[in-house]
Amino acid sequence: MTHDDPERRRAEIAEGVAAVRARVAAACAAAGRNEDEITLIAVTKTFPASDVRLLAGLGLTEVGENRDQEARPKAAECADLPLTWHFVGRLQTNKARAVAGYADVVHSVDRARLVSALSDAAVRAGRTLRCLVQVSLDEAAPGEAAGEPAGEQGRGGAAPAEVPRLADEIAGAGGLELGGVMAVAPLGADPLPAFTRLAEIAADLRGNHPDARIVSAGMSGDLEQAIACGATHLRVGTALLGGRRAIVR
Ligand SMILES: *Cc1c(COP(=O)(O)O)cnc(C)c1O
Repeated sequence: MTHDDPERRRAEIAEGVAAVRARVAAACAAAGRNEDEITLIAVTKTFPASDVRLLAGLGLTEVGENRDQEARPKAAECADLPLTWHFVGRLQTNKARAVAGYADVVHSVDRARLVSALSDAAVRAGRTLRCLVQVSLDEAAPGEAAGEPAGEQGRGGAAPAEVPRLADEIAGAGGLELGGVMAVAPLGADPLPAFTRLAEIAADLRGNHPDARIVSAGMSGDLEQAIACGATHLRVGTALLGGRRAIVR
């Protein structure tokens, strides 16, 4: 995939956007849902700021990133665009302050220490961060899914039983607003049971927090199942932008 020829790249991305929008429309029709219930987030990790600009030109202004080191300069380069930035990756507490400077929504809040770090950072920055509780739907212990080591590489997420307490903490924290829940389907398994479980957790959460309506679920490979299970926010990278090269750390 070349990024060198802007016209060609624009056409490639336009094709990806059209294909994903068609999949979303078909999945909504199949599920009896309205397309305007769905927010499509373009996950632009590993792709340049010029791609974010092309996406915005195609009407896609919700942008997702998973690493602060990459997201921060990209957000700065695109500061003139009317974008909403979603932080979707594992977040270390020492990065909370940086992320609070540009992110609008943090999808990956999975522990109390992170709630307080984000709250302090948002208050200092004079910003409001919408936070989602990331739920681990893996059979294995949270953060140790299917052969992935815990820590940076693991996908994180709180155990379902921890969600109500974390949600209350977010709702009560200065500078933060509880948006709802997020999950990544377990690797290599049918996503439907996981997304069904997430829908139940989201419904329970709305019992105490009626405004926390976001259900962030569904990626390139499983957005249909996510829509069938009530997802409101899709995080799509590959299907919009093409394959990612391996990240060299
Ligand atoms: C990379 C990523 C996505 C997008 O994945 P694709 O399969 O490329 O659509 C979604 N969510 C999270 C948390 C990610 O890290």
